[in-house]
Amino acid sequence: MKLPDKRGHFGEFGGKFVPETLMSPLAELETALKTLKKNKRFKAEFSFYLKEYAGRPTNLYFAQRLSKRLKNLKVYLKREDTLHTGAHKINNTIGQILIAKHMKKNRIIAETGAGQHGVATATVASLFGLQCCIYMGAEDMKRQALNVFRMRLLGAEVIEVKSGSQTLKDAMNEAIRDWVTNVQNTFYIIGSVAGPHPYPVMVRDFQAVIGQEAREQFFVKEKKLPDYLIACVGGGSNAMGLFHAFFQDKTVKMVGVEAAGFGLHTKEHAASLSQGSVGILHGSKSSLLQNREGQIRVAHSIAAGLDYPGVGPEHAYYKKIGRATYVAVTDREALQGLKLLSRAEGIIPALETAHAIAYLEKLAQEVKRKATVIVCLSGRGDKDVAAVKELM
Ligand SMILES: *Cc1c(COP(=O)(O)O)cnc(C)c1O
Repeated sequence: MKLPDKRGHFGEFGGKFVPETLMSPLAELETALKTLKKNKRFKAEFSFYLKEYAGRPTNLYFAQRLSKRLKNLKVYLKREDTLHTGAHKINNTIGQILIAKHMKKNRIIAETGAGQHGVATATVASLFGLQCCIYMGAEDMKRQALNVFRMRLLGAEVIEVKSGSQTLKDAMNEAIRDWVTNVQNTFYIIGSVAGPHPYPVMVRDFQAVIGQEAREQFFVKEKKLPDYLIACVGGGSNAMGLFHAFFQDKTVKMVGVEAAGFGLHTKEHAASLSQGSVGILHGSKSSLLQNREGQIRVAHSIAAGLDYPGVGPEHAYYKKIGRATYVAVTDREALQGLKLLSRAEGIIPALETAHAIAYLEKLAQEVKRKATVIVCLSGRGDKDVAAVKELM
């Protein structure tokens, strides 16, 4: 069975829960995707920019010293941190800006939390000379001042969002409002496998290159499939990007690592799968952090990129059918993970990615026999070192 179905459902999750005015632009996008999927020139263009501009393929690096420390684990790192702009997000923004171009939309909007998706969007908008507006929560603008400056340097307009918790979910609300008003000339680039159909499947297909490369590279090095795939989960795009190519490989276990913030027993976390319930947010049905009245709760994580109260619907589905398991790692453990990889391999990971690294120590305790692991190294830590310095 191919997922999602025609109407964008992954089992009971996904779909399209949007105001009437957005139904026609979403249909327009679906039609464009259907045509472009079969278009050889579009595929060649996408590969060209991934290779020549972003720096693909990324290496699958055997982390020898880290593996030695973890005893039973043989760890490979899929180096998305080496891409232009320092994270996997560029795979998706290149894909979506090419679609915008084919649809003849000359204005780009996006939401951003950590500022990483905003920077990746401003980057490709400038690459193609398109006007760009980025919505960002006032709180996030304070926490990520450097990324705000980066976006402005790249020529984007950054719009401060002062509603609600003044973070990512509010920025996404405002971006959707803008889209409703300006659908004629505007393309909305969503930063993860979230939002209404066809966004989750479109973003997944752009990020799937991570797993496609990793699967081949691992096979060349080890002559078999890996035992585990591990990735951090915010909206879930780097994780789904790694997982997707392995869906049919039943022996490969998949683990998504969510942010446990101050701990799952507190309300200060972002574990929307481990602790969430079914609901609707930003146009799709998934697992969310919400109170009994269905009001969205404020998420917390030390990593701004994981600080989202929802998660992509395909992950909710993977969890439901047991294809992947989801665990959570605290702020404190993530800091340890960041230190561990920095010292063991000379690679400072993003705080988001540090959650996946931190989980390796737990997995090493659990496995009985030697196991091979691919970790998605979603991004580099340069953006976080100032914050980490304060915290340490
Ligand atoms: C944004 C971001 C994430 C979280 O987003 P996903 O959609 O869950 O991948 C993870 N790591 C890095 C480095 C990021 O910038």
